[in-house]
Amino acid sequence: MEHQQKQNHLHHHHQQQQQQQPLMMIMQLQSPSRFKRVCVFCGSSPGKKPAYQIAAIQLGNELVERNIDLVYGGGSVGLMGLVSQAVYDGGRHVLGVIPKTLMPREITGETVGEVRAVSDMHQRKAEMARLADAFIALPGGYGTLEELLEVITWAQLGIHDKPVGLLNVDGYYNSLLCFIDKAVDEGFISPAARHIIVSAATAHELVSKLEEYEPKHCGVASKLSWEMEQQLGYSINSDIAR
Ligand code: AMP
Repeated sequence: MEHQQKQNHLHHHHQQQQQQQPLMMIMQLQSPSRFKRVCVFCGSSPGKKPAYQIAAIQLGNELVERNIDLVYGGGSVGLMGLVSQAVYDGGRHVLGVIPKTLMPREITGETVGEVRAVSDMHQRKAEMARLADAFIALPGGYGTLEELLEVITWAQLGIHDKPVGLLNVDGYYNSLLCFIDKAVDEGFISPAARHIIVSAATAHELVSKLEEYEPKHCGVASKLSWEMEQQLGYSINSDIAR
């Protein structure tokens, strides 16, 4: 008898747990993100494997689920178009930052959401960096690598301490990560600066890791000296660093 009561109690408890699980999942999905806006660098080409295109859409959906807005290079070409469309369709704000020379539709295609015209590629990068709380690179080519390495270099120098993530879809970036490890072994990148790059194979895992990221490196240039340089030199807005 007592045994039966215990069984019933356990059964009831199990049912309660099952009922609570979906609610907890919804609460987890809706918990506010540390990021308001994320900057995505990615290929202006779609890549040959469907996995790249699927990953771009999944990243867009992941941002939407976490109530995160997007800033990116503008346009609808390649993976850029897929990620921006997914964020836009999910009801989040999309900001495309485009140099005036790339604005013709035949180069960049239609841009969903808000478009901000800037004078050149340098201003574009600075503007994207200023507006974002974190950076994510999907697979891409020279443009993506250049944007990614620049924000990593800025982090290394201490110009910002925003997290930088690499979405390593199907091991696309394995050889880059191997190269970076070689640069650490050979003494060109410090182990603390290696820590700047956060990588994961899926959008969900990557954004979760970025949320937990804490910088370990100490930059050589203070934010103050960066701000002074900006006032003296280019007209890049000083609050890239925050
Ligand atoms: P890539 O990886 O060489 O295809 O270059 C992609 C990156 O460079 C993007 O994150 C953009 O910021 C920029 N980019 C390259 N081509 C274009 C284009 N046709 N329209 C807009 N942005 C572009």
